Amino acid sequence: MGAEDSGEEYLFKIVVIGDSAVGKSNLLSRYASDEFDLNTKATVGVEFQTVCVEINGKEVKAQIWDTAGQERFRAVTSAYYRGAVGALIVYDISRRTTFESVSRWLEELNTHCDTAVARILVGNKCDLEDIRDVSVEEGKSVAESEGLFFIETSALDSTNVKVAFEIAIKEIYNNIS
Ligand code: GDP
Ligand code: MG
Repeated sequence: MGAEDSGEEYLFKIVVIGDSAVGKSNLLSRYASDEFDLNTKATVGVEFQTVCVEINGKEVKAQIWDTAGQERFRAVTSAYYRGAVGALIVYDISRRTTFESVSRWLEELNTHCDTAVARILVGNKCDLEDIRDVSVEEGKSVAESEGLFFIETSALDSTNVKVAFEIAIKEIYNNIS
């Protein structure tokens, strides 16, 4: 029997957090279905999307959760975090306030999840180089001091989107195997 018949299956819950309008929903739709929406959706609907990836010949299902806009009211619930094994903490490189919120999001994550959660700091909208408000070095530096992975992405032009989610998925996989 090949490894694919061994019946092993992994389901990883990953949450995407960060201030309103940093691009969380678009990162997810770009990754899960290669779609991008220029307008901020008055989001409702799907709580999560499931993406299947193969790591070391094993099928992994990444169940990626989107806030559906509750973050606007600072009311992301504990149900959102429950069982998460990975998190993308997203800010917008063209809006410094969203970067300054990262520490608050990390605190919230830490109160709901244990420290073993794989955490990636994501500076999104790197296509907006001409109105950049947070340097790559600043992002790296915060990530280093907090012990996070770091990457800049663009949900608009697809830069590093797949890579960002796959860093999280591989790190989770390494944590458990
Ligand atoms: P959320 O509130 O964090 O889920 O953010 P959304 O995904 O709804 O995106 C907010 C706005 O930013 C929308 O108008 C998107 O079109 C835009 N946006 C999202 N990602 C990017 C990106 O990578 N580059 C640019 N230029 N705009 C983006
Ligand atoms: Mg959203």
